[in-house]
Amino acid sequence: MTHDVAVLGGGPAGMAAATEAASHGARTVLLEESPLPGGQVYRALPPGYAGPADADRRAGDALRAALAASGADLRTGCRVWGLGGGPLVPQGAAAAPFTLSALGHDGVPFTITTRALVLCTGTHERIIPFPGWTLPGVIGLAAATILLKVQGVLPGRRIVVAGAGPLLYAVAAKVLAGGGQVAAVVDAATHGEWLRALPALAARPDLLAQGAAWRTRLLAAGVPVIHGAHVTAADGDGVLGRVRVGDRAIDADALCIGHGLVPATEATRTYRARHEHRPQDGGWVPVLDGRQRTSVPLLYAAGDGAGVRGAAAAPAAGRVAARAALDDLGLAHAGSQDAALDRARRAGAAMARMMALRPAMVEAIPPETIVCRCEGVTRAAIDAAAADGAVTINQLKHFTRCGMGPCQGRMCGEAAGALLAAAHGVPIGAVGFATGRIPLRPVPMEAILGAFDYADIPVPAAAPI
Ligand SMILES: Cc1cc2nc3c(=O)[nH]c(=O)nc-3n(C[C@H](O)[C@H](O)[C@H](O)COP(=O)(O)OP(=O)(O)OC[C@H]3O[C@@H](n4cnc5c(N)ncnc54)[C@H](O)[C@@H]3O)c2cc1C
Repeated sequence: MTHDVAVLGGGPAGMAAATEAASHGARTVLLEESPLPGGQVYRALPPGYAGPADADRRAGDALRAALAASGADLRTGCRVWGLGGGPLVPQGAAAAPFTLSALGHDGVPFTITTRALVLCTGTHERIIPFPGWTLPGVIGLAAATILLKVQGVLPGRRIVVAGAGPLLYAVAAKVLAGGGQVAAVVDAATHGEWLRALPALAARPDLLAQGAAWRTRLLAAGVPVIHGAHVTAADGDGVLGRVRVGDRAIDADALCIGHGLVPATEATRTYRARHEHRPQDGGWVPVLDGRQRTSVPLLYAAGDGAGVRGAAAAPAAGRVAARAALDDLGLAHAGSQDAALDRARRAGAAMARMMALRPAMVEAIPPETIVCRCEGVTRAAIDAAAADGAVTINQLKHFTRCGMGPCQGRMCGEAAGALLAAAHGVPIGAVGFATGRIPLRPVPMEAILGAFDYADIPVPAAAPI
C-alpha cells in the first residue's frame, strides 16, 4: 500500500504532524527509532522505570495520546536508513512515490512508500573539539539529559557542566536533584547575552520561571557559575580527572559539555533539497516556504530539523507541515495558520542564538586536537588539506576522510567546515555541506543485502585468456 503521508521522526513535531494528517483521513505512517514516540525532550520512560509527572512528561503524554487516537500507523523501534523515490529516480524515469527503507524493531527490514513525506528528524548536539574531549568521562550535554531524565543515572560524582544554552542549567539542576555534586558551570554566554535574551523569553513566562528555578537551586548549593568562559582542556590518567578553564584546574570525574544543537538534515540533503547556512537557526537548514515545504515537491520539514526553535514550537510546525501536505495532495483544506507557532518561535529563536556556533572557539582548537573522532583527523590535517587545495567540505572528505566514519560527520562536520572556511578566509556557508548519502544510520550489511545464498549468485564464465 502506498501511504498518503509518511512522517520520519516521532518527536513533538512528528507526533503532531502524523496526528494532524491521520485525523483528516490521510493514510499516515510514523516511523521512529526509539521504542516509544516522544523524541528528545518528551522521551518516554522505558517499561519498568518510574519518573516524576513533570510538565515535560504531561506534554509528551498528551501528544502520545492524540497520536494513538488519530489512527496513524505507528512504527516505533525502527531505524530508517534508506531513502528513495521522489527526486532520486534516475533522470528521465517517471515520477515515483518516496520510499523509506528501515530496520524493524524485530531486526526484519521493510520498506514503505508514500506520496508525501514530512521530515521531523530533530537535531544532534554540537561539541567544539578541545584537547581531551575524547577521554572517557567527557559526555555531551544533551546526552546527559537522556541519562538523567530517562535512566535516572548520574554521569559521575563530581561533575563540570559546560557549554552554551539553557540545557546547561537544566543538566546542572538535575545533577543536584539526583544527589551529584556540580563542581562548576562554565557558560560560554556572558551576563550581557542572557540579559539581551530576556525580552524574547518573556513571551514564555513558564520557561523563564523554570530557568529562574534552576539558577536558584545552583545558587543555594553554592555552585560557581563562570560566565563568558570555555573549557580549554580536559586531562587525566586514561579517564577524566581535571577540567581546565584557562588557568583554572577543576577536579572532576565527569564533564557534560555541549555548544548547541545542529539541525539533522541528512534526509533533506539526501533528497537534494535546497539548503542555506543560517547560524542563528543552528547551521545548514532546508529552505522552506511559509508552510514548511522544501524545494522538493511533496517533501516537508518541521521541528528542530528545519531550524532550532525548541520543543514548544515543534508541534505547531509539524501541524503546519501536515496541513500543507493535505492541501498539496488534494485531501483536505486544513488551513495554514497556527497561532501557537509565532509566540513559541520568538522564545526559541532567542535560545537558538545563544547556542549558535562561536567561530572564535573553533579557531582556538590547537593543531594536534582530534576533530573527526571516527577517523582520527586532527586540526593540523584539516589545515594541511586546506593548504593543499581542499576548498569545499566534500573535497576535505576526499583529502582526509574527515566525516567518513560511522557518524557521517554529525559530530565533526560543522567544526571541520568552520576550520576550512577560516583557512580560506570565507564565510562557513561558502565551503558547502557534505552531500547526503545513505545509510542515514549505521545498519548491519545483512539488513541491506537481505538473505541470499552465495551458491545462488550467478558467476559469469571466465574470460578467455
Ligand atoms: C540528545 C538531546 C537531548 C535534548 N534534551 C532536551 C531537553 O531535555 N529539554 C529541551 O527543552 N530540549 C532538549 N533537546 C532539544 C529538543 O530535542 C528539541 O527542542 C525538540 O525535541 C525538538 O523536537 P523535534 O520533534 O523537532 O525533534 P526530536 O524531539 O529530536 O525528535 C526527532 C525524532 O526523530 C527520530 N529520528 C531521526 N532520524 C531517524 C531515523 N533515521 N530513523 C528513525 N527515527 C529517526 C529520533 O529518534 C527522534 O525521536 C534535546 C536535544 C537533543 C539532541
